[in-house]
Amino acid sequence: MSVSIEIRKEDIGRILRITVNGRSLDTPHFFPVVRLGTRVSLKFDGGIWSSGVITSAYLLWKRGFSGDVHEGLGFEGVVMTDSGAYQTLAYKTPIKASPEEIVEYEKRINSDIAVILDEPIFPDDTYNEARRKAKETVKRAKEANVDDKRVRVMPLHGIERPDILKRMIENSDFERYKMAALGGVVPYMERYEYAPVVEATVIARDSLPSDVPLHVFGAGHPTLIPFLIAAGADTFDSASYALYAKDGRYLTPRGTYYLDDLTELPCMCPFCIGRDPQELKRDRKLLELHNYYVLLQETVRVREAIRLGRLREYLEHKARTHPAAMEAFKTLIRYKDLIKPRAARFRQRGMFIFDKLSLLRPDAPERPELPKADKVILVISRDPPLRRLKDFEGNTVIYVTPRGLVPAELSETYPFSQTELPESLREELIEERIKKAKEIRKEFEIVER
Ligand SMILES: [Zn+2]
Repeated sequence: MSVSIEIRKEDIGRILRITVNGRSLDTPHFFPVVRLGTRVSLKFDGGIWSSGVITSAYLLWKRGFSGDVHEGLGFEGVVMTDSGAYQTLAYKTPIKASPEEIVEYEKRINSDIAVILDEPIFPDDTYNEARRKAKETVKRAKEANVDDKRVRVMPLHGIERPDILKRMIENSDFERYKMAALGGVVPYMERYEYAPVVEATVIARDSLPSDVPLHVFGAGHPTLIPFLIAAGADTFDSASYALYAKDGRYLTPRGTYYLDDLTELPCMCPFCIGRDPQELKRDRKLLELHNYYVLLQETVRVREAIRLGRLREYLEHKARTHPAAMEAFKTLIRYKDLIKPRAARFRQRGMFIFDKLSLLRPDAPERPELPKADKVILVISRDPPLRRLKDFEGNTVIYVTPRGLVPAELSETYPFSQTELPESLREELIEERIKKAKEIRKEFEIVER
């Protein structure tokens, strides 16, 4: 078997290793869009590096490219090929290749991760039109003569149309298609409407088999990517780094700026250090490389946050970079029941609680119910509490923690015993918990230790 997909770490975001014909990459991974010999093509020198790029099979086909795509691009890592249907149809240009031609062409040029030619759905399509297109894509996938020498990708559509998205997944064959890819994201990205994209990603992840990686087409902004990873996406691609550069726009982990608005470059990457905004404006290649560097850095940060069990804390930080990012974060909270089953049951590090929003974590266990005992002692304690249990033998003991009321037996388990939070918030929360407890039961003995 020339393809393997190995789950290396599972949590609300996960790490996979995808290996195709001896070439590997670890997810979450961002595939920069590269084009043969055009200005968009990235040169992988000067400190820039990627383990996988994406290019349009349709554009290569149109240009009459033959040979191995790795050699054509001068790139030895994993090459993903998109069918190019979305971009082409977005510009209202008809596709001249047939679905079979693209499937065969991707084999000939030795693509590692190959997408079939789909019928993209656009936000202004009617419901019936969207449903017809979804059926057509599923039919093409069934009829395609795919081989197992590469990862074949099943394109999915249905942002804001969850029933269409779910039905596409139900009717797809994930024995033949080892990977899925959500399309139609670009119009939402352009309007900074992150919530529908996050929502569709959560629904797709929940409906897909867990060993099928999920790609999101056209997701190329560092304020969105971390939320899509928590929503269940594994890989992304975009030409945003080059498109932004064309307009003199400079990416940062917190948002995009026009170079004309900047006095200094707030980045120390190899392309910015020692330069000023006008130098990057004059040399678009430098600006492209910087923009790509920011996207690459974002995926590395998220991978490392997953390894350290700190993705949730990282999301809380990112949520405050842009109102759209906060909306993405709140969308994750809204879907926490679908995300929760993926969360690690235990982490080596305690949770950081910053404010009340932090308490709505999808990765925390439910707070247990208050027991119906005759006599209950509420204990407010800052120390590891079990050591003091002897004092209360024969009673039902509940600890008042910032996360809620916790029976003594659970008080040393994750995450109740491992929470760090500001002292003022701790006091506020404890007071609220006691008030709540008094609403439920009248009789309490409150002990402060
Ligand atoms: Zn830079």
